Formats: sequence, C-alpha cells, structure tokens
Amino acid sequence: MYGSIEAGGTKFVCAIGNNKLEILDRASFPTTTPDETMKQVIDFFNPYQERLESIGVGSFGPIDLNRKSETYGYITSTPKLAWQNFDFVGTLKKHFDVPIAWTTDVNAACYGEYVSGNGKGLSSIVYYTVGTGIGGGALQNGVFVEGFSHPEMGHMLVKRHPEDTFVGNCPFHHDCLEGMAAGPAIEKRTGTKGQDLSSDDPVWEIEADYIAQCAYNTTLMFAPDIIIFGGGVMKQDHMKKKVQEKFAKLVNHYVNTPVVEEYIVTPKLGDNAGTIGALALAQNAKIKG
Ligand code: ADP
Ligand code: ZN
Repeated sequence: MYGSIEAGGTKFVCAIGNNKLEILDRASFPTTTPDETMKQVIDFFNPYQERLESIGVGSFGPIDLNRKSETYGYITSTPKLAWQNFDFVGTLKKHFDVPIAWTTDVNAACYGEYVSGNGKGLSSIVYYTVGTGIGGGALQNGVFVEGFSHPEMGHMLVKRHPEDTFVGNCPFHHDCLEGMAAGPAIEKRTGTKGQDLSSDDPVWEIEADYIAQCAYNTTLMFAPDIIIFGGGVMKQDHMKKKVQEKFAKLVNHYVNTPVVEEYIVTPKLGDNAGTIGALALAQNAKIKG
C-alpha cells in the first residue's frame, strides 16, 4: 500500500492506494496549523502503519527539494505564516519509517496526468492549476524540471489586457499572471466569486487572455507535448475553448504545435490528479528505496 498527501493551502487530502494506483481510502482536512493538520494526517495513516510501503507528498510551497540542503523537505517562505520553515518530511519520518517522495502540489498533479491522465504516453507535460493561486509544474522527458529550486511559473509576467484596469493581486509582483488571473483576481474585479458568475460575463474574455498568454509563453519556453490547466477556475467549461482560440491567435502559426484541442486541455483526472500523482511518486520512491 502507498500513502498520498496532497497538501494544499486550503485543504489536505490524504489517501491510501494500491499498486494499480486505485484509491482505497481517503480523507480531507482543512489546512490550519502544522500541529493540528499534521496530527490529522498521522491519525489517518496510523491504522495502515504495517502495510504502508512509502508515502508521496505534493505540497503547497515554496518548498525545499534540494537533497543537499539542510532544510530539504521543508515548506520555506510561504505567505501562510504558521507553515513557514515547517519540516514536513522530517515530521512524517518521525512517525513513518518509509521512503517519502517530496514535490510540489502542481508537480504531483502533473505526474498524475502523466501516469494515468491526459498526458499518458507523452513525455513532456506542463500542468497549471488556476485556483486561489496559480502554480505550474513541468515534466521534460519524464523528469521534473528543476534547478536551484522548483519553477514558479504562476508568477510569470503577462501583458495587461487593454480593457483591464485591475491593479493586480500578487503581494510580490502585483500584476503577474497569478495577480491578474487567479480566482481572487476575478472576485476582486467583479465583486463575485468565479463560480457565481454567468458564463457570458465579460471578465472571462480577460481571464482567457491571460491564460492564453501563459500557454503561449509555456509553448515557446518548453515546446511540451501537452499543456494541462486544472484548478477551480478551469471548472468553467467555456474557458478551455476561449483559451485555445486566443492561444492560436497569439502564436499566429509561428510554431507548429499539436492540434490545439489536444494540446491545451483540462485534467482527465479532475481533482484526483494530485492524489494519483503522489501515489505514483510514492511507488517510485519505494522502488528506488
Ligand atoms: P485551491 O486553489 O484553494 O486549492 P481551487 O482550485 O478550488 O482551490 O480554487 C479556488 C478558487 O477558484 C477560488 O478563487 C474560487 O472562487 C475559484 N473557483 C472555484 N470553483 C470555480 C468555478 N466553478 N468557476 C470559477 N471559479 C471557481
Ligand atoms: Zn506574483
């Protein structure tokens, strides 16, 4: 049995899965403080102690995933103060003496789509979540793109839409992609949460423009096989088509991407992408030891 932890800024999803990456048990808790939330995590896995072979974690961040660093396995400079410099992997290791795979929440979701979602059979995949924030993870030839740290593609710069007067919402960069296009930016512009807006609200044209710019930048930087957009905002069914159309206009035939309907997609696994990805990473961690 493998364990999976999808540690999000809003909630944690813990799961137990088998060799076929089937989910056998699952529970979800709100993200409060490390003491409180980690206790719930440990209580969830405790009954499986004897059979648990490894655990995969996909965490909100920024996180330290440099194995040579003294703070490997920590959540580092997150705006969520209670979680700053929290030793996530170390805390798990105290309770569960098994290999632990450690990556970002978006990398885990990217991996889920790679092993059993829309990226299956492909090797270079970029996954974004457009929710409370925007995060991105990338696999190049099946390996996560990383260097001194993990990518922070959600904070790329975008050109302001000509009709958009919103100042932007990112505490670090104001009008970066996340500042302009994450869920809270939609709510601040319109006074209404995205899920409560009608599909013909003009804000969706602006939103799709920013997401299309993101897909454009991603295409030119990585030339991936597929770009997957998940997260709450992409639950708006009309968005995918709008993004595809705007993306095609931006690229203007400069590069010959795969057919856009198959190139810019939403996750096949839906909200399970992160959980399945973390299970698959746990499975790999067990094999590697
Ligand atoms: P999180 O990013 O916190 O893990 P979500 O991916 O659900 O969770 O993102 C939450 C954000 O997405 C909120 O800003 C919310 O208003 C927005 N959102 C959630 N559902 C929808 C929807 N169906 N349509 C548009 N926006 C949505
Ligand atoms: Zn930013």
